[in-house]
Formats: sequence, structure tokens, C-alpha cells
Amino acid sequence: MNFTTRFAPSPTGPLHLGHAYSALLAHDSAREEDGKFLLRIDDLDQSRARPHWEDQIYDDLAWLGITWDGPVRRQSDHFHEYAKATQQLRAAGLTFECTCSRRDIEAAANAPQEGVPEFGPDGRIYPGTCRSLALAPTPQTCTRLNISKACALALPAHFTDTEPDRVGVHNLETQDMLATVGDVILSRRQMAASYHLSVVLDDAATGVTDVIRGADLFDATRIHVVLQKLLNLPTPAYHHHKLIRDDAGKRLAKRDDARAIARYRAEGATPTDIRQMVGL
Ligand code: GLU
Repeated sequence: MNFTTRFAPSPTGPLHLGHAYSALLAHDSAREEDGKFLLRIDDLDQSRARPHWEDQIYDDLAWLGITWDGPVRRQSDHFHEYAKATQQLRAAGLTFECTCSRRDIEAAANAPQEGVPEFGPDGRIYPGTCRSLALAPTPQTCTRLNISKACALALPAHFTDTEPDRVGVHNLETQDMLATVGDVILSRRQMAASYHLSVVLDDAATGVTDVIRGADLFDATRIHVVLQKLLNLPTPAYHHHKLIRDDAGKRLAKRDDARAIARYRAEGATPTDIRQMVGL
């Protein structure tokens, strides 16, 4: 059976227990399925990526007993591909340029409608200020997807999830996409691509059939499926796993150094201890 999955950490901080869970789950699944486990370094945000965090990732994964197949893919080697895809969507009339700052968006979103969510996977839902202005792309603009036009072309579409909590087929609905996702950013000032565009292109380029990642990315998957349809790329199967939380029930973040793998290692924990801590 053809099964390819991946682990795609950003080298912007130490790997913590949540990363270990995600990496081990994906790695073990690939080995069980006699498939491939790929490692990708999501260093899209060059202002935050650091070589020493990347080195620590390789070191921690090797220590956990994780082996990856083939060369490591680094997003910073593929910026031109992301730019090409943005250009393709732009040429198809599915994008617009935007000059809004975060503050402009906050100010424009001051009168929320009752019952309509104000926040989506990328934070505040874009209020549409620049949508009809037909601005030309410049280094000062960011490129947004016109979600209404995108849905008209991409939908109907769906994805499947194999995580027991949300197992089954998830259909994408236009009204829901307009209200809860909005015109998401495809490429930004000083950044080659948004997270959404880059992961969609990377997963397709590396033949990923099964995306195994945290439940925090479940809502973003709808954006990914729309982009896959627009760019004529396959939609993988998804498994959005539970999140590892701290003692107070809060999701672990990069800044939670207390739960960094390196810290446990320094304190004498074994890879088996780590597996037990995350419930594997
Ligand atoms: N690089 C992303 C992160 O560290 C994960 C990408 C993905 O799994 O789609 O959160």
C-alpha cells in the first residue's frame, strides 16, 4: 500500500512533548503501514527560524529513535515554487492585493454581526476592505485569496479524518467558508508564502498521502482543501490527533521550555519515558 506521511516542525524553538507525540505517531504509522516517513523543516518564517533549533530537531528525533526516509525538505529551498503558485492563482483572477495592516483590520471589524464568528484559523476574519480595489502587487502588498470566487470554483469538496473524535467525511460549505475563514493570505510582505499555501504545495510535491498533525490545525484544513482543488493537487487523508496539554490543561507551545525534549533528556529521561508521557 502507498502510505506517505511526514513531520513538519518549524525551527523556531525547542521540540516539546506535543511535537514528540506528533512525530512518533506519524513515524510509527508509516512503519506499521510499510510506508514512508518524511521530515520537513518548515522554515518559511526566516525572521524566526534558527539553525541551532534545526540541529536540535535532528538530534531530538534521532534520540527518540525516529528515522526518516529520503532527504529532508526545507521550505526555504522552495520559495520560487510558492511564488509561482500565487502567480497562477492571481492569473486565474482568484486573488487581490491588500495593504491593510493588522490595526486597519481591527478598526474595520468594529461592528461584528451577531452570530457570525469574528475569528477564523488565521485570527480576525478579513473584513474585505481591499477586495474590490484592484490594487497592483508591490513589495508592500500581501496577496489574499478571494474566498468567494475560490469556493465557486473549488466546491463541492470534502476531506476525511481518521481520528476517532472526528472520524468521517467533512464537507466544505461555501457559506461557512465565507463566514468562518474569509479571504486568507497567500503571500505576505517579506514572506514567500503563507503557511497554508506552502504546506499544500509541499505535501503534494513530496507525495504525502496521509497528513498526521495536531487538532489545532483541523480548521485550517478546509483552506488547504480549497487550495488543493484550485491548484489541481490531490487531497490527502487527514488525522488530526489530540493535543498534549500541560497540567493546567493548556496546549503546549514553543515557549514551554519546561516540557522541551532536550530538558527531559538532560534530566535523564529515556525515549521510552517520553513515549509513556504522551500515552504511546
Ligand atoms: N509547521 C507546522 C507547525 O510546526 C505544521 C505544519 C503541518 O503539519 O501542516 O505547526
